[in-house]
Amino acid sequence: LLRVRGLQKSFGSNRVLESVDLTVGRGRVLALIGPSGSGKTTILRCLNGLELPDGGTIEVAASTTVRGASVGHTPGRGPNSAVLVTIDFAAKTTAKQLAALRDRSAMVFQHYNLFPHKTVLQNVIEGPVVVQHRPVAEVTAEALALLERVGLTDKRDSYPFELSGGQQQRVGIVRALALRPQLLLFDEPTSALDPELVGDVLRLIKELADEGWSMVIVTHELEFAREVAHEIAFVDGGTIVEHGESKQLLRNPQQERTRQFLHRLL
Ligand code: ATP
Repeated sequence: LLRVRGLQKSFGSNRVLESVDLTVGRGRVLALIGPSGSGKTTILRCLNGLELPDGGTIEVAASTTVRGASVGHTPGRGPNSAVLVTIDFAAKTTAKQLAALRDRSAMVFQHYNLFPHKTVLQNVIEGPVVVQHRPVAEVTAEALALLERVGLTDKRDSYPFELSGGQQQRVGIVRALALRPQLLLFDEPTSALDPELVGDVLRLIKELADEGWSMVIVTHELEFAREVAHEIAFVDGGTIVEHGESKQLLRNPQQERTRQFLHRLL
């Protein structure tokens, strides 16, 4: 789905991403683990075009449709186009290239980032209607089906402040799904939740993984990563120190830095 080569990003003089190489395959779940400040969130934001890298390339399968509107995601199935766009961030990027990148994925944020002045339903339909220009009736029907799936039908007209953190995050996930992305990006989706609310959100993510959604998940929950992710990449100092099959990497890390990190956590 995405191939990332030599991605670099600095904030002022702080070089956060040294050089990141990463491939996200279709139907694969990749967990990014690593110490605080190592650059995991920045990688995720670069994959979604929320941050503009300073250098490196990202290859994405381009859509033949307008802003992804009629892509019609089917988990486990490929995009409806084999056209590949290579974005070279060292050169000048075009709006079309960035749109191709942003259309691929949808982000679920640590702090949910729901619009506080909009209802649950309005939050979910906003992106598909305003950004993707899809018909309101169709989007609303899809949104209601998704809300039903996560048990939040009765909250459709509530505002985010009226919901628990776990409910808000489930709305955050539904909002991402409503965009029909090919790739779901999760940025520490449970780290802001009270412990008793974590389980519901993790279960939902696991269900989506089992359905074949492609995902990149930044997480501190190693047990969850072991259970849900096919692959784990250990990020430290703005590079991928080690990337491998989840159980293998957790059981038998090859790099000393990975070993030390896991040793501290386990
Ligand atoms: P954590 O696990 O604590 O969330 P992380 O591995 O996700 O950490 P990032 O959030 O990617 O790390 O941050 C990496 C570094 O980049 C940090 O030093 C952070 O202060 C810096 N950074 C991130 N975003 C910005 C920004 N918008 N402006 C300036 N510095 C930033």
